Amino acid sequence: MTDTKTPPEAGFETRAIHAGAHPDPATGARNTPIYQTTSYVFDDADHAADLFNLQTFGFIYSRLTNPTVAVLEERLANLEGGRAAVCAASGHAAQFLTFFTLLGPGDEFVASRNLYGGSITQFGISFEKLGWKCHFVDPTDPENFAAAITPKTKAIFLEVLANPGGIVVDLEAVAAIAKDAGIPLIVDNTMATPYLCRPFEWGADIIVHSTTKFLGGHGNSLGGAVIESGKFDWAQNDKFPSMTEPEPAYHGLTFYETFGNFGFTMKARAVALRDFGPALSPTNAFNTITGIETLPLRMERHVANAQDVATFLEGHPAVDWVSYAGLTSSPYHNLAKKYLPKGAGSVFTIGLKGGYEAGVKLVEGVEMISHLANIGDTRSLILHPASTTHRQLTEEQRLAAGAGPEVVRLSIGLETANDIKNDLDQGLCNT
Ligand SMILES: *Cc1c(COP(=O)(O)O)cnc(C)c1O
Repeated sequence: MTDTKTPPEAGFETRAIHAGAHPDPATGARNTPIYQTTSYVFDDADHAADLFNLQTFGFIYSRLTNPTVAVLEERLANLEGGRAAVCAASGHAAQFLTFFTLLGPGDEFVASRNLYGGSITQFGISFEKLGWKCHFVDPTDPENFAAAITPKTKAIFLEVLANPGGIVVDLEAVAAIAKDAGIPLIVDNTMATPYLCRPFEWGADIIVHSTTKFLGGHGNSLGGAVIESGKFDWAQNDKFPSMTEPEPAYHGLTFYETFGNFGFTMKARAVALRDFGPALSPTNAFNTITGIETLPLRMERHVANAQDVATFLEGHPAVDWVSYAGLTSSPYHNLAKKYLPKGAGSVFTIGLKGGYEAGVKLVEGVEMISHLANIGDTRSLILHPASTTHRQLTEEQRLAAGAGPEVVRLSIGLETANDIKNDLDQGLCNT
């Protein structure tokens, strides 16, 4: 399903609509159909054998590949400026596919401590059961990543724009540290999307997404993706045997030698996705493709509304502080201008003068804004992390993650900005 009509120099808006897609060869359908099928008929026995040996590209079974999902994979690789992508059932599944492909028991990686709460639990608790050790560091000084690297470290992981702390990480500096250590930098670009931030241009090697958020954009479909830049040299040291040594499950095939600059996503698909099975459904891929077509327009409005609401809240008497990198008051404003030139996203946190109780009152007091655990919807969303997403963390981890008792997180949607401000204002009046 190679897209031949979208030139690489086409603008972002054009590629968001066209990359990876083409009229359906069987029917001429202009929109990408939902290929709601589990399996695909082989031409003959030789064709089937070639497919199973990875000697030809094609469709076998939708746990591995599906034509609708393939359009989304190609579109995401294109928008990030990467070589190839593999989709998964959720952002967490994409993270699992990435680390399963990189790590063996006893291996380590270094991660920013300012991550989505679920990632902290996945890395710190569940991964440990597989023998993978994550060292969390304060990402605001890039040297902290360098200091945590040991001979067993196989990757660095961070969110450029971190949720919920409002932190922007110095991507270029951390990429240089990863390069020196001969290990890939993995960036979770969920909060920024490729419209606002281009991690590969600053030296990242792998990008992961929860497409559940802004990419899908409508709060209707879970999904995830792993994208590789195609520039990382897996053979520069002996740290990545899964890429450079023969794979027993494929008659001794060596993924880096055979597939070169898309070897990582091939391996993630042909082994991790095949054997663990978190495949993206074609219907969710369709919803996500449809969402991406309006990504540039939506992100522009998300950012404009967030800027407006954040400025309003900064002047509100019930609000102690607003942590939004789009405001000049943010210590991350300059980093945001460098890495997020089109805006610092639409998720930010505020600290309420009334503490924990005020946080609970506000989430219960708003009317239009939905109290729920998601971000990146067309609708404005509100959450009190200390009583929900960050509840399972220790008090110390909560504070480190920017989720103290007085903190409320907002994901500013696409409604009329005045309506969002009015709802927050009435919700704040009793705090
Ligand atoms: C939501 C989210 C995830 C996890 O994605 P799911 O699709 O919910 O599994 C990972 N990282 C970030 C930044 C997120 O916002």
